Order: sequence, then C-alpha cells, then structure tokens
Amino acid sequence: MTIQHHVSDELLMNYAIGTLSESWSLAVATHAALCPVCRDGVLKAEAMGGVFVDEIAPVPMAEGAFNDLLARLDTDDTLLPPTKPNAMFVTGNVPLPEPLRSYLLGDDVIQCTDLPWQRLGLGAYHIPITLSDRSATARLLRIPAGRPVAEHGHGGSELTLVLAGAFHDGSSYFGPGDFQETDETLVHKPRAIADEDCICLAVTDAPLSFSNPIARLIQPFLNV
Ligand SMILES: [Zn+2]
Repeated sequence: MTIQHHVSDELLMNYAIGTLSESWSLAVATHAALCPVCRDGVLKAEAMGGVFVDEIAPVPMAEGAFNDLLARLDTDDTLLPPTKPNAMFVTGNVPLPEPLRSYLLGDDVIQCTDLPWQRLGLGAYHIPITLSDRSATARLLRIPAGRPVAEHGHGGSELTLVLAGAFHDGSSYFGPGDFQETDETLVHKPRAIADEDCICLAVTDAPLSFSNPIARLIQPFLNV
C-alpha cells in the first residue's frame, strides 16, 4: 500500500489533542491505522499536545508550524510514547482496520461479500455506520468499477478514506489508504477506476448537493 494523500496537519493535530468529533476521529484513526506516516504524526502531535496544549490558541495553524514542531521533537525522542499500531484485520481483499472494523462488524470476522451492503442505485451500495455523534454521518461506500459518483457539492466538509480499489477526482488519483478532505468550496465527480470496485469510508457533516435533478429527487430516500 503506497499512500499519497495524508491527513492534513491541522486535522491530525486536532485529533491528537482530542478536539475532533467521533465521526471525524473515526476517519482519521482508521487512516492512521493504515498509514505509518500519520501514525507517527499522531504520536508526535500527542507529545506536543502534552507539552504545549496550554499554549495552543484556537486559531488556524500557520503554514509550516506543524513541521517546525515535528523537527524539534525529532531531536528529543524521550518525548515520544512507544509506537503501537492498531490491529489490522483483512476481510476478503479489503483491509478493515480498527476502529472502523468494530463499528462495522463488532467481534465477528466476516468476508467482504458478507457485509450488509444496502443498494444506493446505479450499482452503488453503502453501509451506514451508527455513531453517537449526530453532527455528521459516516458510511462505507462501494462504487462500481468505472462508474462515477453523481456530480455534487457539499454543504460542509467531507472526509473520504479509500480501503480498496481507487478513484480519480479531476487530475488526482486516490488509491488504497489515501485520505481526501473536501469542503463546501468543491464541486466534484469522483469516478472509480475501471477494473475494480472502489470501497471507501465517507464522513460528511452536511447533506451533499447533487447537480443532477434525478439524484436530487432520490436523495431524501438515501440519506446522503
Ligand atoms: Zn497518512
């Protein structure tokens, strides 16, 4: 697994200091379970948080500030807790790491084909994920090979983590383990690659805004 797209510094820091909601944390933690780069970033950010949390002001981080602090931490290993990657389970060809696995399966180990997929239409399926957090919705999405998701904008933010297959979004390619962050400024039409269904975790904090009137018509029935 070669991961090209990682969690942003700001999101990673907020995760580490515990200010993310359950739904956002689910996406970040599941990516970190697959990604040694972000796992290391979380450990360092947690260490930073322990040292600097009282000094963190609630404003956006300056560009480069996160890397500057990481560089400082690299010189003092005593600040870092031991690395302990999350356990990873594989069902079929789909890596299903914690904490996503427990949200989906409980303690049962089942195959990908046995997952309780629900039809979304146009060949797509999803599995809504139950959260205590009502500020966002999370779902496992399965987009059929070669097919697009209908063009849509966002009323808020969307986090997408690819677990299997891949999709193109404009000129960008998102493969297994890749993490995409979008906000209300983006209108896009991601398309699954031709030879494999794309399975991803998607978290949104507002309903999508579809360009296609048919998609808008069925949207209330799909809760997307
Ligand atoms: Zn990463």
